[in-house]
Amino acid sequence: MSILSSFAEALTTGRVEVVDLTAPLSSETPVIQLPPQFAQTARFELEELSRYDDRGPAWYWNNFRTGEHTGTHFDAPNHWVTGQDGEDVASVPPQRLIAPAAVLDFSAQAAEDPDFLLEVEHIQDWEATHGPLPEGGWLLYRTGWDARSTSQQEFVNADDTGPHTPGLSPACARWLAEKSTVIGLGVETVGTDAGAAHSFDPPFPCHAGLMGSGKYGLTQLQNLAQLPPTGALIVAAPLPIVSGSGSPSRVLALVERG
Ligand code: MN
Repeated sequence: MSILSSFAEALTTGRVEVVDLTAPLSSETPVIQLPPQFAQTARFELEELSRYDDRGPAWYWNNFRTGEHTGTHFDAPNHWVTGQDGEDVASVPPQRLIAPAAVLDFSAQAAEDPDFLLEVEHIQDWEATHGPLPEGGWLLYRTGWDARSTSQQEFVNADDTGPHTPGLSPACARWLAEKSTVIGLGVETVGTDAGAAHSFDPPFPCHAGLMGSGKYGLTQLQNLAQLPPTGALIVAAPLPIVSGSGSPSRVLALVERG
C-alpha cells in the first residue's frame, strides 16, 4: 500500500487523529496591545454582505477585516526588521508548512510564574530524555496559556509594569534562532516573545532572532496538551498574502494513537 493510502486509512480508522491547534477567530479573539505611540493591530471583524435577503436572496457571505497577526497566526521572516529581506508569508515554501514537532511542557512553571522564561538548559534537559529537536520541525512551547484565550485581559495579563506572559530568555531565543535545527517556534501566547520582552536585551529576542535567521513563528496555539512530546506532524496553513508579514492560520496536528 502506498504511504498516502495507508495514511488515508489511518485517518479513517482513527489510528491517526487530527488535533486542531487553532483558536476560534472572532471579534472576541484577543489581540496584542502595543504602547500608545505605536500603530495597533485590528481585531477580527465580519461585515455581512447578504444573508438570504434582498442583498443576495440565495446566499450568505461576509467581508472580513483583520490584522495579519490576529489570533492563531504565522509570523514570516519579513515581520521583523532583522528579517526584512527575508521571505514574505506568500513565499514560504509549501513543504515547510508540514513539519514534525517537539512539544515541551512548561505549564507547571508558567502557572507558578507568569514571567517564566525557557532557558537553553531546559531544552537540553528535554533532549536528554526525548532526543534532539526535530530537524526542519517546530519547537512547540506549552505553557497552559491557551486556557486564558477567551479573555483579552487574562490572555495579555498586563499591569502597571506591562504584560506578564511566559517566553524565552534572550540566550535561549538566540540559541533557537542560530544553533538549533528547528524552522520555528510555536507558542500559546499572543506572540512568540515573553510579555516582558520589550525590556530584554535585545528587545523581543525571539522575533529578532527567529525572523533574522529566516525562521518562523506560530502563536496563540491551543490543545498542545493533546500532543505527545515527539511524533506529531504539524500542518500550518497561512494565507499566501503577497508581501504580507504573516497571516491568521489554521494549524492542525496529526497524532498517531495506539
Ligand atoms: Mn505575530
